[in-house]
Amino acid sequence: MKRGSRPELVWGIGLSEQVEGEILAALGPGYHLRNWSDETLPKERDIARCNPLVIWITRKAWTDMPDDVRRRLREWDLPQRVLLVEDGKSVSDFEDVVENGFLSAVSLPLTTKKIRDVIFRAKEVKSLYDDIFRMTREIMLERELLARKTDLILFLNQILTRASESLDPTVILTQARDDLGLLLPIKALMSAFWQADDNGVIESEFFLEPDMDAEAEEAWTGYLLENVHRLTQRPVAGYQVAYLGAGESRTDTPDYTLNANGVLLLPLKTAGHVFGCLAISRGAGHPMGKDEVQALYAAVNHLSLALRNAALFSEVKTKADHDGLTRIHNRRAFDERLVEELKRHQRYSSHLSLLMLDLDHFKQINDQHSHQAGDLVLREIGRVLQDALRSTDFGARYGGEEFVVILPQTSEDQAWILAERLRRAIATVQFAFEGREFQVTASIGVATLKPGALNKRMDLLRQADQALYQAKSSGRNMVCVSGGHDEPKAAAQAS
Ligand code: GH3
Ligand code: MG
Ligand code: MG
Repeated sequence: MKRGSRPELVWGIGLSEQVEGEILAALGPGYHLRNWSDETLPKERDIARCNPLVIWITRKAWTDMPDDVRRRLREWDLPQRVLLVEDGKSVSDFEDVVENGFLSAVSLPLTTKKIRDVIFRAKEVKSLYDDIFRMTREIMLERELLARKTDLILFLNQILTRASESLDPTVILTQARDDLGLLLPIKALMSAFWQADDNGVIESEFFLEPDMDAEAEEAWTGYLLENVHRLTQRPVAGYQVAYLGAGESRTDTPDYTLNANGVLLLPLKTAGHVFGCLAISRGAGHPMGKDEVQALYAAVNHLSLALRNAALFSEVKTKADHDGLTRIHNRRAFDERLVEELKRHQRYSSHLSLLMLDLDHFKQINDQHSHQAGDLVLREIGRVLQDALRSTDFGARYGGEEFVVILPQTSEDQAWILAERLRRAIATVQFAFEGREFQVTASIGVATLKPGALNKRMDLLRQADQALYQAKSSGRNMVCVSGGHDEPKAAAQAS
């Protein structure tokens, strides 16, 4: 026996003193034998507490013991039971050896060899059991890991699938807020995308939670601006704001108070290029485990991909819809929008007006001041248009030095007022190119469809064009209204 190690426990039930002595002698000092007599059979608590390697049971003790003790021993699968068969009886008489789950049956008298054989086999079975037990535990652990990984893959798959269903960042982010909510409690989710212009100046787009009060919105835009600057290390020229939808998970009154310490700021990147960030304001909950943090990062990587696609799509669309020189909408976008507005006009029975604007003697600007000066003028006219229009109005460069403006739900009189304001605004701009100053004027034609009018698209354009022609032929720098006015509605002189 090794010092300090406990002797191996062996039980006997109904052993005679002689058999007990033979077993002990054969096993040597490393073993402890506890022999239960017919009267002191092992109780339930003995079975729960002890862990003998072998139980030697005489045939008589096994047949005589109460049923419940026998059943308990049979169901106890750790120790190996050995049946001791009386002198002269054949082992094969006892079919119940196998039936009752004995390791083996041994006939008396015992010999050292028989005893050691039993112990050897019991140890083998025990080590087999130990192996099986260990392997089972490993398999269960593996299974649990696999189940967790499967859950994660399903979760990421859901994020990516839902995010890829749309090319609208607000839709993607609204869904992401719902999906990521499965991973951590989210109070608010905001995002910023950015893009550097040719001079390296950053233009950003913020995606904010809807229905924030002014104070919270100011705090969040400030927070995002600060972080866009920190992440890009560049000056930020400005930002536009879009709002997320309500989403499915918003049931209670949301809390949008900014607490920068509780915000997880995650960069959005594809192929190593950071193009935005996600700011998640966390609700109360358990701190995130390592697995959850990893899942969150993986989810945000998936989201980045979908959001980058959406951003590129909107970039391409903006390029296709906008005029490169003036940065306002181009003729293609105007044609599309006019069709939409004509439909709306018919559906809702409202006024629809159209302005057609042409710069006066523009050729002379090119001739007298150069083509670049002409371009400068066109750019400035684009800006004047943008400044003067409401968000529902739609201004576009129609071609060359001609511009058009769609004015939904605007009567002829209202359209004329706006046209006049535009004409005056253009006439007051003081241009300077290479030290020489000059001004330009514009002529504007106005056409209006009254509610219920069945005018076609070409009719509206032709009427506006005719009004413009009238303004030109009546002396330029003026607004003329189509629709039966013989005299120009106004003929203002250059200011
Ligand atoms: P009117 O008052 O009758 O409209 O006279 P206009 O000189 O403005 O009209 P015209 O159609 O004779 O000339 C238009 C000029 O606009 C001719 C063209 O060179 C110039 N133009 C068109 N597109 C551009 C542009 O992108 N840049 C510059 N610099 N000039 C342009
Ligand atoms: Mg022209
Ligand atoms: Mg012109």
